[in-house]
Amino acid sequence: MKIFCIGRNYAEHAKELNNPVPKQPLVFCKPPSALMLKRQVLFHPEWTEEIHHEVELVLKICKNGKYIAEKFAHKYYDQISVGIDFTARDIQRKLKAKGHPWEIAKGFDGSGPVGRFIPLAEAGSSVDDITFSLQKNGEVVQLGNTKDLLFTFDQLIAHLSKYFILQQGDLIFTGTPEGVGKVEIGDVLEAYIGDQHLLKCKVL
Ligand code: ZN
Repeated sequence: MKIFCIGRNYAEHAKELNNPVPKQPLVFCKPPSALMLKRQVLFHPEWTEEIHHEVELVLKICKNGKYIAEKFAHKYYDQISVGIDFTARDIQRKLKAKGHPWEIAKGFDGSGPVGRFIPLAEAGSSVDDITFSLQKNGEVVQLGNTKDLLFTFDQLIAHLSKYFILQQGDLIFTGTPEGVGKVEIGDVLEAYIGDQHLLKCKVL
């Protein structure tokens, strides 16, 4: 099983981190051990001072495919959820400055909790109008809508499948909207699609 992530897929988020808006999807992966399968608890690692939350819509691939044309891409995913792309921003900043891969800042254990999946049809009136949000300790800190995506889900599937065979069960974190911020030990993060509560994750 593969977990793909897309960086800078919402212009306002690229801006808040002073990153340019990409011309092609920016792709990285998390290992399966980034998922929290039993308890949705992030044990804050001791080697970072600055873990950020990035709430993202997550697609689940429902059939295998390679070189998928954009017009057929919608047949390859039918379930969606929300996940958090936890990022050790201090470590990522240092690695980026050296031009090194940022794997440890993004792929550490527990760095990718994913909520309950729902059928795509229940997520919004269309894939171009899905609202999602993150609450931290009961307050909304991130709010996004797929109408603001730089690369649509179908474009992402077409792009990814050029390089990687997509297999049933693979996940795609589709990028975060603006409002990323630091988490502290004790924080409770809750993520929604519309008003459907799909993920609760505690930081310990
Ligand atoms: Zn992200």
